[in-house]
Amino acid sequence: MMIVMKEGASDDQIQAVVDRVESVGARAHVSRGELVTVIGAIGDREHVANLGIEGFPGVDHMVPILKPYKLASAQFKKGERTVVEIDGRKIGGQHFMMIAGPCTVESREVMLETAHVVKDAGAQLLRGGAYKPRTSPYSFQGLGEAGLRLLQEAKEETGLPVVTELMDVRDLERVLEVADVIQLGARNMQNYTLLTEVGRAGVPVLLKRGLSATIEELLMAAEYVLKEGNEQVLLCERGIRTFEPSYRFTLDLLAVPVLKELSHLPVVIDPSHAAGRRDWVLPMSLAAAAAGADGIIVEIHPQPEKAICDGPQAVRNEEFADYVRKVEQAAALAGKELARV
Ligand code: PEP
Ligand code: MN
Repeated sequence: MMIVMKEGASDDQIQAVVDRVESVGARAHVSRGELVTVIGAIGDREHVANLGIEGFPGVDHMVPILKPYKLASAQFKKGERTVVEIDGRKIGGQHFMMIAGPCTVESREVMLETAHVVKDAGAQLLRGGAYKPRTSPYSFQGLGEAGLRLLQEAKEETGLPVVTELMDVRDLERVLEVADVIQLGARNMQNYTLLTEVGRAGVPVLLKRGLSATIEELLMAAEYVLKEGNEQVLLCERGIRTFEPSYRFTLDLLAVPVLKELSHLPVVIDPSHAAGRRDWVLPMSLAAAAAGADGIIVEIHPQPEKAICDGPQAVRNEEFADYVRKVEQAAALAGKELARV
């Protein structure tokens, strides 16, 4: 339930509503807009329905949120878009963000060289996994702590903020020392304890859609993070599993307009893991940007043939600046701007 306060409602009136909501065991999420304050009452449906808050001073009206996800719903923000700021760089609204880097942190040379390419091309966020979710337990599992240290070095050298994956809550503190954004990968989208802990950590989260997750399940996963008071969630479509074997996964581009209709959260597209092949990454990136995606996360590498992981889909470092320019033009078609730093 959303409780919309009258314009100019006082702090005491807002507090009285919050107290009432909490007195029935529900949670109150206060969202202060420029003119009006909206209070989301989240909790047991029956309790929330019987709050008896209509007559409270300062209350204008109540709006039920019919979707199972509440804080993630577009309704909750009354059509306003969430803009997430990562070390001064914005994503969401008219702000488009380019995120790039190797699949995995594999060596100091590759990490530093690639970080400079990312920065020089005007991208805003550096990616690289130190903990890798691999299909085979015999495949390279990531450099772990050593990888985090290399990310830290790349960050210090270029000033770029960093996104890296967290797979195990036991690594949270370590990852938080380096990460400006924590990636929760497709395989962990429904790891509810991880979602809750990352929600509590209050760090921006890149939440990737599970291989077989519906849009609603993705939004319910985001709700776990939001429920802990962490509003900085980026939703990421990275390809879903279908009957089509011609490419790695099927990039669900309709997820862009649909997620943006259902939710206020920024939407990021990962064309790399869906395509699985370098030459398909640009067309999918252009389509995603033109469709209104708020950002793209793409894998790049100086020598894809030698990459430890996901080489066939990595855009070559030397082609990255040109790639960014093209995607920037497509994003402009959707009224979005890539702020070069
Ligand atoms: C990745 O970003 O390298 C990755 C493993 O992604 P996903 O979880 O989408 O497979
Ligand atoms: Mn990868």
